[in-house]
Amino acid sequence: MSSVVVIGGGVAGLTTAYRLLQGDPELSVTVLEAADRPGGRLTSLEIADLEIDAGPDSFVARKPWAVELCHELGLRLAEPGASGAYIWTDSGLVPLPPTALGIPADVGALIRWPALSRVGRFGALSDLVRKARPQDNDEALGALLRRRVGDEATDRLVAPLLGGLFAGDVDELGVRSTFPELAAWERTFGSLIRAARAASKAASGAGPIFVKPVAGVHALPRSLVAAIGDLRVRTSTGATEVVRDGEAFVVRTADGDLGADGVVVATPSFAAADLLRDTVPDAARHLDQIRYVSTAVVALVYGEGTADALPDATGFVVPKECAPMTAATFLSRKWPDPAFGDRAVVRCFVGAAGTEDVLDAADEDIVDAVARHLAALLPLPERADASTVVRWPRSMPQYGVGHLDRVSAIEAALPSGIFVVGNAYRGVGIADTVRAATEVAERVRTHVAGTVRTEKVR
Ligand SMILES: Cc1cc2nc3c(=O)[nH]c(=O)nc-3n(C[C@H](O)[C@H](O)[C@H](O)COP(=O)(O)OP(=O)(O)OC[C@H]3O[C@@H](n4cnc5c(N)ncnc54)[C@H](O)[C@@H]3O)c2cc1C
Repeated sequence: MSSVVVIGGGVAGLTTAYRLLQGDPELSVTVLEAADRPGGRLTSLEIADLEIDAGPDSFVARKPWAVELCHELGLRLAEPGASGAYIWTDSGLVPLPPTALGIPADVGALIRWPALSRVGRFGALSDLVRKARPQDNDEALGALLRRRVGDEATDRLVAPLLGGLFAGDVDELGVRSTFPELAAWERTFGSLIRAARAASKAASGAGPIFVKPVAGVHALPRSLVAAIGDLRVRTSTGATEVVRDGEAFVVRTADGDLGADGVVVATPSFAAADLLRDTVPDAARHLDQIRYVSTAVVALVYGEGTADALPDATGFVVPKECAPMTAATFLSRKWPDPAFGDRAVVRCFVGAAGTEDVLDAADEDIVDAVARHLAALLPLPERADASTVVRWPRSMPQYGVGHLDRVSAIEAALPSGIFVVGNAYRGVGIADTVRAATEVAERVRTHVAGTVRTEKVR
């Protein structure tokens, strides 16, 4: 019987294992997970009497792959209870204008938007008349945005929305690997704003942008493990090395070695580099170059009677270095739950490229700073009834300029039978990770079928 070892039990590894078994229930599949629970960043935290998501709280619905996976697993999906969001300004929270991919989609609303100066608005509107200069090669997202909508609209509107998804700096992220649509928009429409207007029209009535399993995103890995069979998922078992054994491989762990016809490395890329350093040094060299940023989630539960202190919106984003957080989700508005009662529940995101030093502070100081800033903006008390900080060290891969070439170089360096998958490569969100895992499972199946045929011929 052919065997596959999947290293890493996050959503990438678990989905790969699930898809492999779907294709061939007889295949021997083992998932090795270093932590004492599967799920990776898809996990929950307990605060007051509540269990809420500690990492992602939703995923994109318009990329179908995670939605389809949830349907297959019988997970019911919830739609957000609020729409619209705010942006942090020196004079308080200001509603975001209509956007598509972070680009203003309504010229009238942009002209009236109070968070930009007259010069800033003029700079943004120049996009409508400025000559297009589409680039043949990858370029920094910031270079494209600044060229089209100017510095002020980039820094005060688009960067907090787009950079925030990567906890990244738009001047460092590459367009091709993050928002290739924007390069296509410049090429096709000659204007990002005109393209955003068209995209927004086309998407109207298309349903919510984000969804989540009713019980929380952390329900997804739980359902995957149930479908895979928990005996196939070995927690507290970190792999230490992958070595060749003729045409096959051996995965080393502290508990012993596992032979495998195929190995899927579904860890963060820096861990993949360590596992492959001696066996595939070329791949490890490229893997080492994918930079990660550390972040943290601060969860706050306020006392009874505070629910109405939150505006009817999903939350707000913060332009770089304006506050000790990069964004906040009004959880009790976005994902209302009877368990919240009449309490305001907020999750704040702390730390991003260029502001990781905020995380050097002690948990209490981070909570204090975040809560004080919230109380200055909203009619909330200066202290929440319960609070917790979940730190996510080296959690957000940064797709720099040329990232996709680096990923191709990694894939080209890997020998037949070793695969990498996860959010370090071709999409940081859950939906893209599920798509990538589905694709890699197909490639593993083809590889394993090939090794069986070769054995029969011998
Ligand atoms: C704070 C935060 C908020 C986010 N919010 C969203 C969101 O709202 N929507 C969205 O779509 N995405 C969001 N993301 C991104 C999302 O979390 C990722 O897309 C997803 O978790 C990637 O899954 P993965 O399996 O690739 O990686 P991981 O979840 O990191 O899983 C990798 C696993 O490999 C294990 N591992 C590492 N080394 C070894 C080893 N040597 N041996 C065995 N196991 C090992 C790790 O313990 C881990 O469990 C967020 C991320 C963060 C950090």
